Amino acid sequence: MALGMSIGEKIIAIKEELPDHVLLVAVSKTKPVEQILEAYEAGHRCFGENKVQELTAKSANLPADIQWHMIGHLQTNKVKYIAPFIHTIHSVDSLKLLKEINKQAAKNERMIDCLFQVRIAEEETKFGLAKAELESILNSEAFQALNNIRIVGLMGMSTNTGDAKIRLAEFNNLKEIYTAIKEDFFESSDSFKELSMGMSDDYQEAIKAGSTMVRIGSTIFGARNYAVKHS
Ligand SMILES: *Cc1c(COP(=O)(O)O)cnc(C)c1O
Repeated sequence: MALGMSIGEKIIAIKEELPDHVLLVAVSKTKPVEQILEAYEAGHRCFGENKVQELTAKSANLPADIQWHMIGHLQTNKVKYIAPFIHTIHSVDSLKLLKEINKQAAKNERMIDCLFQVRIAEEETKFGLAKAELESILNSEAFQALNNIRIVGLMGMSTNTGDAKIRLAEFNNLKEIYTAIKEDFFESSDSFKELSMGMSDDYQEAIKAGSTMVRIGSTIFGARNYAVKHS
């Protein structure tokens, strides 16, 4: 992005660059509501956060027509705080968590869109399911009984490396897993169609590999300063 562009200008420039089938999730974690409002005023409605407390505080202070996406690791005991309003959860990594999302969605008489997070990176630090673990969840009776969640696709994060070839290979791998899971479990589902992959540094490769949702933060809002307290 060109220097000196406002947040609104950056949002508009990125959306112009993205193919029509790719949704921009603007990752606003650590950024103040004023900056989110700048993006909102430029017409953007879809924002991603990775911490429950920050997400609930921001949603309470921003317009109700924002679609909030939870993109970070989610603890089961915190689902209840976001269940009333969350639009999509990208980071489902266990059946236990999915059951709790279903329970809290039912309590709120709503349906919550979910993606399973699949581990494609070599780093041990990245959360996510192996393909076999995902298949065993999808084959379970407990999964069949969940009526207040809708599985809309898969999410993954590439290895944090400067090597674009490695990232592209990992995204291609996730696309293959997505295609296999779609065929084996969601052939007749119209909702299972999303592949959430790509961040500021790698969204070009992710789109080449078939991404339908990119999660972009620092390119829009600038670098994050974790030294500042945000609670
Ligand atoms: C922070 C974060 C992003 C955005 O990262 P940028 O490099 O700032 O674009 C995307 N996805 C997840 C899961 C994140 O935690």
